[in-house]
Amino acid sequence: MKELEMMYEGKAKKVFKTEDDDRLIVAYKDDATAFNGLKKGTIVGKGIVNNRMSNYLCKILEEKGIPTHYVEELDERRTVVKKVEIVPLEVIIRNKAAGSFSKRLGVPEGTELKCSTLEFSYKNDDLGDPLINSYMALALGLATKEEIDTISEMAFKINAILQEVFRNIGIELIDFKLEFGRYHGQIILADEISPDTCRYWDIETHDHLDKDRFRRDLGDAEGAYQEVYRRLGLDR
Ligand code: ADP
Ligand code: UDP
Repeated sequence: MKELEMMYEGKAKKVFKTEDDDRLIVAYKDDATAFNGLKKGTIVGKGIVNNRMSNYLCKILEEKGIPTHYVEELDERRTVVKKVEIVPLEVIIRNKAAGSFSKRLGVPEGTELKCSTLEFSYKNDDLGDPLINSYMALALGLATKEEIDTISEMAFKINAILQEVFRNIGIELIDFKLEFGRYHGQIILADEISPDTCRYWDIETHDHLDKDRFRRDLGDAEGAYQEVYRRLGLDR
């Protein structure tokens, strides 16, 4: 499938139209941003890791009954996906306290939670993706009640599947962000699942193997991305 004009350039990916109205091509960049674009940089090789890892995880999720936007990997940075209407919600699942949850609620990072939790942010860069609840999402018309229920149920299922995948390679899945889209009347998983959108902690050393290395200037972000890629066997 061939790329036509660029439809959108985001912080981490470019999105292209194709001859098929139902398909897009996403191209993953090495650009890294944090704090709503205030911090900018490059993580060499990140685009390759995120593209291939996201596709690998989508395939596993599909096998386990989760519908995703994945269609075909074209090369190391580009993938054909189903064109969806993105539901403007960032869906965050947490298994342990970290990041904004720790800060907002005064819970030290790494604290066990009594159960996994789900939160929504309104996907709006101008507003800095504010935290909202499902009633606010409904009131704003961001999604219907049925869509919110489907999204929440799918997000927890995805969590169970991903936790196992990462546990098997010595990584604890602390938290992650998902995006969903509408595709011919159905809610499917879209966007990416990668070290940009998840927190991965080494089970033994608690080393951070994700974008926090860039956000927090922990050093060797490239090495961390490559390490997760290697453990998943994607370098072969
Ligand atoms: P951002 O918009 O936050 O800067 P990216 O650089 O990752 O993020 O840009 C990719 C954009 O493409 C995101 O806005 C995402 O919501 C959107 N997107 C992801 N998957 C799909 C899809 N299957 N169909 C339509 N849009 C998608
Ligand atoms: N996250 C993301 N995109 C965002 C915000 C968060 O992918 O715009 C991911 C982030 O990588 C982490 C999880 O969602 O895995 C929870 O992030 P948190 O709310 O703790 O925010 P942060 O600490 O990044 O400000």
